[in-house]
Amino acid sequence: MNKQTVKDIDVRGQRVLVRCDFNVPLDGETITDDTRIVAALPTIRFLIDNGARVILASHFGRPKGEVNAKYSLDPVAKRLSELLGKPVEKAADSIGPAVQERVSLLADGDVLLLENVRFHKGEEKNDPELAKAFASLADVFVNDAFGTAHRAHASTAGIADYLPAVAGFLMEKEIDIMGRALEDPNRPFTAIIGGAKVSDKITVLENLLAKVDQLIIGGGMANTFLKAMGYNLGNSLVEEDKLPLAKELLDRAEKEGVMIFLPEDLVAASAFKADAETKVVDAETEGVPEGWMALDIGPKSMKTFGLVIARSNTVIWNGPMGVFEMEAFAKGTNSVAESVAKCQGTTIVGGGDSVAAVEKAGLAEKMTHVSTGGGASLEFLEGKALPGVVALKDK
Ligand code: ADP
Ligand code: MG
Repeated sequence: MNKQTVKDIDVRGQRVLVRCDFNVPLDGETITDDTRIVAALPTIRFLIDNGARVILASHFGRPKGEVNAKYSLDPVAKRLSELLGKPVEKAADSIGPAVQERVSLLADGDVLLLENVRFHKGEEKNDPELAKAFASLADVFVNDAFGTAHRAHASTAGIADYLPAVAGFLMEKEIDIMGRALEDPNRPFTAIIGGAKVSDKITVLENLLAKVDQLIIGGGMANTFLKAMGYNLGNSLVEEDKLPLAKELLDRAEKEGVMIFLPEDLVAASAFKADAETKVVDAETEGVPEGWMALDIGPKSMKTFGLVIARSNTVIWNGPMGVFEMEAFAKGTNSVAESVAKCQGTTIVGGGDSVAAVEKAGLAEKMTHVSTGGGASLEFLEGKALPGVVALKDK
């Protein structure tokens, strides 16, 4: 990574404001998955150990610029304190005189968590006044919120106009691993792209076509490609207006020597329901019956995709292979998750739903990297510059 990190600066005795992504799932007062908090620990521990006065900031949910107790970071302060094994103070706001006062009382190695930055309207508008108010709390800014790096907000990008800004370890890890895979991959390099719609992932497909050796397409978006090849898709989700684009992408792949793998067989369902009648159909010779819809890839596709993945040295996966939220249509996604987990090469999973599927299958530990950022990882794979990264100091 060509950006400075916390290791490139002297933090002792400094007030260091760290933007984290503590946007964790909550059930009442209970955090049901603390992955994002755990992922932030290396940076926080490094700062504590090196005598910084640590001020943590994060958004949580979508309070839309208003104070709302439902979106308080109190449960995060509690969990963080347990994980760090030391007290984590929690401020009642993220700016203002009372917060200034608490910051001034911090000793080296102390940790203070600010309240949800999205309680202020200026956060998502990247208001310079709010950015300045955040900046006035600290001497240095550290961005460790990869999951929010694709948004130019006051606490992710704006603040860097007023303070020296460097990356945290999570940010560095996300960018290093994904960046290396995209720029200098061990080949063969395979991308697996799934999810509901082609239109969500056009830029990703275009960017990856120029880089990969093999492209596996599954999930709802495969339907549009199969239809473009002349197959019957019945009532499946097909984007009619994207048929020409699908054809063009298939042509481009052929020209660039990228091998494309589409599902050979599909699980067709009589309705979009967990208990619908189902049958496996061959995509080319049978197609999806009239009135039925493809909701998962079939067993032959799972086998072929598995072989392609097994012979790859780099795999990037974004988007499930079927409607995995329903058990009946989760087999394709689970099978791909297992194939990726078994692959000996570098394996990277990005995307909110794909990561959820991998975690549900208990396979996250078997991957080289599971990205903590859904939207951010997608934009990274699209080849876009992330505002939260651009704002950091170059090496
Ligand atoms: P990610 O969050 O990993 O990037 P997406 O958000 O692009 O993934 O896609 C996930 C959604 O795609 C899931 O809600 C899933 O139900 C849906 N999906 C996958 N396959 C199909 C299909 N065959 N028909 C309809 N929806 C599908
Ligand atoms: Mg999603």
